[in-house]
Amino acid sequence: MSSRGPYTPGPKLRPRVGQPQVPPIHDGGDRRSTGRLQMVGAQKIAAFCTQCRSRCGCVAVVEHGRLRGIEPLPDHPTGQALCPKGRAAPELVYHPDRVTRPLRRTQPKGAADPGWTPIGWDEALAEIAARLSDIRAAHGAEQVAFSVTTPSGSHISDSISWIERFIRAYGSPNTIYGTEICNWHKDYASRFTYGHDIGTPDFANTGCIVLWGNNPAATWLARQVEIQKGLKRGARLVVIDPRPTALAKRATQWLRVRPGTDQAVALGLANLLISSGRFDRAFAATWTNASLLVRADTGRFLRESDLRADGRTEILFSHTGDGGDLLPFDPARGSWDSGSTTPVLRWQGTVQTLSGPVLCHTALELFARAAAEFPPERVAEVSGIEPADLAKAADIIAGAPSVSYYAWNGVGQSVTATQTDRAISILYALTGSYGRKGGNVPGGAASFVDISGQDLLPTTQRDKALGLAERPLGPGLQGWVTARDVYKAVLAKAPYPVRMLMSFGTNLLVSQPDTETARKALSALEFHVHADFFVNATARYADIILPAATSWEREGLRTGFDGSLEGLRHVQLRPPVIAPVGEARSDTDIVMGLAARLGLGDRMFDLDADRGHDTALARTGLTVERLRRSPEGIVVEGAVPVDAQAIAQDGHPRGYPTATRKIEIYSERLLLAGYRPIPDLDAGDLVPAEPGYPLRLGSAKSVAYCHSQHRNIASLRRLVPDPIVEIAPADAAARSIAQGDWVRIRTPTGDAVARAALVPGLASGAVFGQHGWWVDGADGTPYDRTHPLAANLNGAIGTERADPVSGSIPLRCSWCEIEKMAH
Ligand code: SF4
Repeated sequence: MSSRGPYTPGPKLRPRVGQPQVPPIHDGGDRRSTGRLQMVGAQKIAAFCTQCRSRCGCVAVVEHGRLRGIEPLPDHPTGQALCPKGRAAPELVYHPDRVTRPLRRTQPKGAADPGWTPIGWDEALAEIAARLSDIRAAHGAEQVAFSVTTPSGSHISDSISWIERFIRAYGSPNTIYGTEICNWHKDYASRFTYGHDIGTPDFANTGCIVLWGNNPAATWLARQVEIQKGLKRGARLVVIDPRPTALAKRATQWLRVRPGTDQAVALGLANLLISSGRFDRAFAATWTNASLLVRADTGRFLRESDLRADGRTEILFSHTGDGGDLLPFDPARGSWDSGSTTPVLRWQGTVQTLSGPVLCHTALELFARAAAEFPPERVAEVSGIEPADLAKAADIIAGAPSVSYYAWNGVGQSVTATQTDRAISILYALTGSYGRKGGNVPGGAASFVDISGQDLLPTTQRDKALGLAERPLGPGLQGWVTARDVYKAVLAKAPYPVRMLMSFGTNLLVSQPDTETARKALSALEFHVHADFFVNATARYADIILPAATSWEREGLRTGFDGSLEGLRHVQLRPPVIAPVGEARSDTDIVMGLAARLGLGDRMFDLDADRGHDTALARTGLTVERLRRSPEGIVVEGAVPVDAQAIAQDGHPRGYPTATRKIEIYSERLLLAGYRPIPDLDAGDLVPAEPGYPLRLGSAKSVAYCHSQHRNIASLRRLVPDPIVEIAPADAAARSIAQGDWVRIRTPTGDAVARAALVPGLASGAVFGQHGWWVDGADGTPYDRTHPLAANLNGAIGTERADPVSGSIPLRCSWCEIEKMAH
């Protein structure tokens, strides 16, 4: 059995496996008000599912006021298919374990039974508001931390802007958002290179699709549909993934990378493109900072002020090549004072400065040298990818008329995540496809106003974000902090105490590593509030639980569906299709209720959600009222603009929102913060192997579940009844492990149980478990009612090493051993 101590589950833990929860139909209708809808008899209501990032357009079938199911809505940009999770909506909504009233703990934390007692909303909100007010007055708003579950995998996406706005209006810079292990790298680390996020792939027009650590077949159904269409049209496909996913098997070239070594692969591919000259030179010269000169002595760009006493610091230089001249570059205009002269992309030479001769290199020269450290043979050694396969992938990418790509968790959950993203982004920039037809397009179809209240958090409070001092360019800049920094603040009171936690749908015990520290921190909080559908493993430590409404019970605004560029034009206001179950309220209503009691109404659009949504829509000409008259959504005019290459009014390229107005192959911003300006890599960057732990451990998602949710949904649990760990047949045979055997996954810091799934084609030495298990299994399984967390994979992941920029931890590249259990 697990090395952990016994675990005492709460009274509502057991999944209702084998008991489909279909609501009864009451003849004669159930006349209940949803606030905006009066539903009598059968109805089909245009809607969209918010359970995951796909946000599939659908029709909600409602009979007598009760949700009976959802069906595809084929004319909707994401409505062509639905997954089992979406179809299980009625089971979720009417599950007997739903929290339907506010609950108060009446027994001490750690007691076998928390003694949940129903209380009224007024009592609950008044007490929470009083605690929030008292702590802010006595100690500062930073001593209250919040946690918010992922909008990419939960119903919270309807309310995320409102929750963030409330937190910032209240004044806390500390929200555990999980961004460093989820979206930060594609959405924010990409800005170190592009100035934008990764953008939306133009699958409809591309010549080549690259999927890097991203398996939309399991996580993003609408994207999967678009990819299938692209492949049918003839696009080529390159997949970089350790696992033989369905798309990997269909790929023109699959690169079976060892977990955690993707940066070496990106550098190796870039090396093949640069050394053979097969990259878009014109794009690199015009739209990247490839040609800018970097001083070898300081690592800074060469500036006019380096050359002349009256020179300007903002003017930088390129060069025309050996025997040529310096070419001044003005970032404010995004252009060179060069006439028809073209800057050279690769050059090194000495430049006479005020302090003497200084060796300079172009940015591309420096990157090319870092990439040249990874010839195919070395890439093979590090990543396990055969040189011929790497070469074929390079040929496909270089030969494609356009390339679109996506990279997500597979590269984001590692200790080199930020620099891996840099290497992939620069490789992509060399294809010349960023911001072009058939490539990844930044921005949306229309300009929506961000109402998440970034402007409401004063700089003095923002600067107090936990972990910001250690990671000055990381998620702390947005007020997003890591769970482990909050645990430290709770337990060690460093750099200051965190006294209260208010959670919206999170499950820190299993979605984050280091479960034991989490347990101690949750037990030590002065006050803990949790809003959710169910009392999950983490909620059991709360003092007050608030019943949250599912998306089917509340209104939701979506400004673009990013499965495709066309989908970005679709704006929809989903009505509540049924009345709230019990006393459940939307997260938006919850924060509005707290804002009212805290006197923050003026910062929350006078507590009028419609006003906030109208503000979000203001630049588009749409209004809430107009969207309500068109529940199936409205398509905004015009195509998604390719903003970066537009020409500004002064006649110069608008450029990219970076310091140099170019895609940054060389990042002075990273340099000045103490990081590497070029994403070079040495062996010490990777998680070192541990003696006795020869297998590389990652985790992968299942189509049946989102993160730690849904194990209590009977129809989904039947699809995946137990946690599994994928292992290559040869690695299993070496350990006498057969298909379906119960095994223990051991790491230097913990262990978890799972059933072995032998997967032919999985990279040798790689194993993939599933995170998010916290419910008990069937009788006879090794994670029964006394040990439901025995299957919690993240409990076995250490936090000693983290990405130095973002704080990401090696959830996909730790080391482990696997052994068959006697069980
Ligand atoms: S793929 Fe996601 S959004 Fe679509 S039906 Fe399934 S859970 Fe809902």
